[in-house]
Amino acid sequence: MTGFAAHGVVKRFTRGTETVTALAGVDLAVAGGEFVALVGPSGSGKSTLLAVLCGWETPDEGTLEPAAAVDRGWSDLALVPQALGLVADLSLLDNVLLPARLRRHRTTRTDAPGDPVPLAHRLMADFGLEHLADRYPHQASLGEQQRAAVARALVLRPALLLADEPTAHQDRDHADALLDALRDAALDGSAVLLATHDEVAWSRADRVVSMRDGRLAAGAPS
Ligand code: ADP
Ligand code: ADP
Repeated sequence: MTGFAAHGVVKRFTRGTETVTALAGVDLAVAGGEFVALVGPSGSGKSTLLAVLCGWETPDEGTLEPAAAVDRGWSDLALVPQALGLVADLSLLDNVLLPARLRRHRTTRTDAPGDPVPLAHRLMADFGLEHLADRYPHQASLGEQQRAAVARALVLRPALLLADEPTAHQDRDHADALLDALRDAALDGSAVLLATHDEVAWSRADRVVSMRDGRLAAGAPS
């Protein structure tokens, strides 16, 4: 099976004496090859769902079926967090390569994927970052840093790709380049889930799901 699924996922947070139910029973399956847009108002639970799916948060109830495309030599999962998480003292190119390099050191597999450097350069060129390869994150704009974070995820050719507002700091042309690349990842077999307010992203997705008060419904919000 490729792709992933969440069944009846509940996640609560405690703030002082108050309990917030961020996810109130979420069912979602995204198949390998599918590009799904997750929409919904701020505070509806989108980031929490991504955090649960990537293992940052443990659900209080429900089950998750992780991606199982390791047999294709892929890393299972890549995340583009809203806070980006670039390493300050690595160049943009080294940031893009970091997870792929860590994976190569970790793996004992004989069929590990090949050299990630050419793919990293291609993605940086597609995203208008080629001339910034040697710059550090603080020498790049927020939009450039965000494109580097998307490239960092794509370089893994992950079975599951989660992205939180990946076009938030982009003009239309750069947003379109990012969406093209995410679409290509899906065509290549990744299951792609994008939390996004970008209506162009909704129109490019295979499917739109809307979150409201920790619950999911099919389709864009009315
Ligand atoms: P969205 O991504 O759609 O804006 P979030 O998943 O960030 O929504 O938040 C859903 C709800 O859970 C909100 O009420 C938010 O305040 C709460 N929440 C999210 N993370 C935490 C946390 N770590 N601690 C306490 N409450 C949280
Ligand atoms: P954006 O439109 O993406 O927000 P900015 O206006 O922030 O871009 O930046 C414009 C250009 O200036 C970019 O090419 C960026 O790389 C460069 N730049 C921004 N901040 C710095 C910095 N601290 N040092 C060097 N170059 C920078």
